Amino acid sequence: MQQLTGDQSLVKQINSSIVLDLVRTYSPISRAEVSVKSGLNKGTVSNLVNQLIESGLVRELGQGESSGGRKPVLLEFNQQAGYAIGVDVRVDMVSLVLCDLHGNVVDQAEHTFDSRAPEHVYQVLAGAVRHFIHTAPKSHYGIVGIGAGVPGIVDGEGNVLFAPNLEWRDVPLGRWLREEFLLPVAIDNEANAGALGERQYGAGQDSNHLVYLSVSHGIGTGIVIGEGIYKGAYGYSGEAGHTTIEVDGKLCSCGNYGCWELYASERALMEEAGRSGSLMQAFPPGKITAEGSRSAMRLEHLIQLAEGGNPEAETLLKNNGRYLGIGIANLINIFNPELIIIGNRIALAEAWIADEIKNTVQARALPFHKDKVRIEFSHLSMGAVMLGAASMALNHFFDKMRVSVEKVHR
Ligand SMILES: [Zn+2]
Repeated sequence: MQQLTGDQSLVKQINSSIVLDLVRTYSPISRAEVSVKSGLNKGTVSNLVNQLIESGLVRELGQGESSGGRKPVLLEFNQQAGYAIGVDVRVDMVSLVLCDLHGNVVDQAEHTFDSRAPEHVYQVLAGAVRHFIHTAPKSHYGIVGIGAGVPGIVDGEGNVLFAPNLEWRDVPLGRWLREEFLLPVAIDNEANAGALGERQYGAGQDSNHLVYLSVSHGIGTGIVIGEGIYKGAYGYSGEAGHTTIEVDGKLCSCGNYGCWELYASERALMEEAGRSGSLMQAFPPGKITAEGSRSAMRLEHLIQLAEGGNPEAETLLKNNGRYLGIGIANLINIFNPELIIIGNRIALAEAWIADEIKNTVQARALPFHKDKVRIEFSHLSMGAVMLGAASMALNHFFDKMRVSVEKVHR
């Protein structure tokens, strides 16, 4: 936040951000309409709009409908004034989007990695970021920031404290990115980023009480309250995958026994499938790799088998749905959400697990809680995590030019 010299400039900055928000929301809009909606007089609006045009964030569009007299010039938000990069770090690949200031995707990339060593993953990620920086369309602000979702516990500085499925501890990902690219960097847990993506672009757009469930290698949850994420005292909330559902259950990489994700994640499901001799027999032979060895069976293959009428594949998928339903019933009892969104890789299996999840929730959640809750699957084809990560970077960019009333009163 830049230093303000006095009340006048503070008021001006607040008014400017009000005008910008109105243009962003209602674009195209005339100066007169901005004046009516903001309650600011026409002269003030005109001055502020001129400055926003100079800053590149607003541009004149041409003439709109007149209600009599001279036709007004319409203003629009210049979403091409800058770009943000959103990154989804997974256990075997990074996926990235380049978004304009409105969050529209203009480019996308995916890179797999064979070693999870933090330095190696960083090199893959940084190479992709560098590519976007070089190929992004020319713009007033250039790249305004980088957002990333990571499958682990992340602190406020962007240090990945613990990511069991990546086998990372204390990886200063935020610092590495800031030092190399000299850009603002926002890093969060992938489930939080996914929840933000769904809240802004996906199934959760109208919901202020939602729990986003990210189910792939592990299980994480992002809890949306109002427009923001509930992060807990230190930012570590949402680790529902490590709540105990079997008292004397299997040992988890987190050190606990019987964690939910050991029974309901994609990995748990695929480990079960891998133990079944007959399923491995039925595994399509086309999936033999160039080296002649069988590639590991993936969720897509298991779904194919179920679609082909393989009863064992169907049973395994349904059982996965049942275990998911048990944990979801717990979440519903704790948070009383209006919406649960099931996202990440397991959403591919919707047709095979949805009924089982809903039946289990019906049978187990408290009557008042389950009454109105909707359970939906993520349909964001671009990936909620990278979109949410890009929106973290965009929010940071717009927050910089916003003065909160809270700060004024301090
Ligand atoms: Zn655990």
